[in-house]
This record gives sequence, C-alpha cells and structure tokens, in this order.
Amino acid sequence: MSRILIAEDEERISSFVEKGLRSAGYTPVVAAHGGDALELARTGNFDLVLLDVGLPGIDGFEVLRRLRTENTMLPVIMLTARTQTSDTVAGLDGGANDYIPKPFKFDELLARIRLRLRDAGQVSESTLTVGDLSLDLRTRRATVGDRVVDLSAREFALAEEFLRHPEQVLSREQLLSRVWGLDFDPGSNVVDVYVRYLRSKFGPDRIETLRGMGYRLK
Ligand code: CA
Repeated sequence: MSRILIAEDEERISSFVEKGLRSAGYTPVVAAHGGDALELARTGNFDLVLLDVGLPGIDGFEVLRRLRTENTMLPVIMLTARTQTSDTVAGLDGGANDYIPKPFKFDELLARIRLRLRDAGQVSESTLTVGDLSLDLRTRRATVGDRVVDLSAREFALAEEFLRHPEQVLSREQLLSRVWGLDFDPGSNVVDVYVRYLRSKFGPDRIETLRGMGYRLK
C-alpha cells in the first residue's frame, strides 16, 4: 500500500484529495505547512508527494529543491494554481516528476500518481537475475545459487553488463567501451582476461566465446 504525502494548505483541496486517495486504497497524510511537508518527506515514510507550490512557510519549489539536494529520489507531483509555462519549467527543472495545474479532475490526478509510482518501482529494481546468477546492485553482491561470490569493481561491472543482456552477443568493443570507457586500446585483451576471471568465479560454461564476434551469457 502506497503512502502519499499531500502538501497542500487549502483545506478544501487537501480533504477532497485525501478522501479520494483513501478510497482508492492509498494511505494519505496531509501537511498544510511547507516546513512540516519537508520534515515528513525526509522521514522516508512516503512513496510519493503531492506538492502545492503556494505553501506557507517554505514554498513548494523550495521544499522540492531541498529534497533534491539531499538526493531524495521520492517522486514529486507539483500542484499549482499558477498555470504559466515559466512555473512548469521551474518545477520540472527543480526535479519534479510531474506537474498538475489546479483545478484538476481527481481521475487525472490518480492516473498520474499510478504512473509515477510505477516508474519509481522500476527505478528501485535492484537485483539482476539470470538463471541462478544474481547481482544485487545496491549491496554490490554477486551470488551463484546460494554461494556468495567476491567480485572486484571491474568484474562486477562486466558481470552487470552480461546480466543486463542475457543471450545477446556482446563484442569486445562494446564491453570495452561500456565497462572500461574509451580510454582503452581496442586491441587490448583486457576483456578476455576479465571474462576468464568471471568464468573462474561463476563456473566455466556460463559465458560462451563466439569466435570473431564476442561473448554471450547463457
Ligand atoms: Ca496553496
């Protein structure tokens, strides 16, 4: 169940949105003051913020700016009565994920909320799995079945490239540019060396060599 912070000082609007969200199955909490909204948003207890621009105390743009400088990835939909393009642009530049001018239809708001929550779910996907191989992108841990495998940073990056493209042939040049960047001589055998390291850690048969073409994760 998603928790939604409604930062809105007009009680008529906040109670209408709160009721609507509750009946749609969300858990809404209302903050009528910019400072309260910022404090609540920082707790990590919310999945999305509906952020009015004209809030008392700290205004919506400033709340957003502070959240984004703290690297909070929390999805934010700005609500505002001001429909000028300059405000929209300021909101999106400030890191808002979406923008809804007031007055809005509740159904439209709900559709935007669903969309933003779905996007956020995809972004927070943190594990790549192919067969019994799995990489946790947050903890940088690799496992084969139940066995944890120690990988260096470069080995991890190479493994990630393979797990993002299973069954695809990846050429040495692709792997070199994606994992090592462009500061490597294309004639370098560093890819072959690291594929050998991965084979010794994951098992010999998982990464196939296709002569003259590159490598493929099976
Ligand atoms: Ca307001």
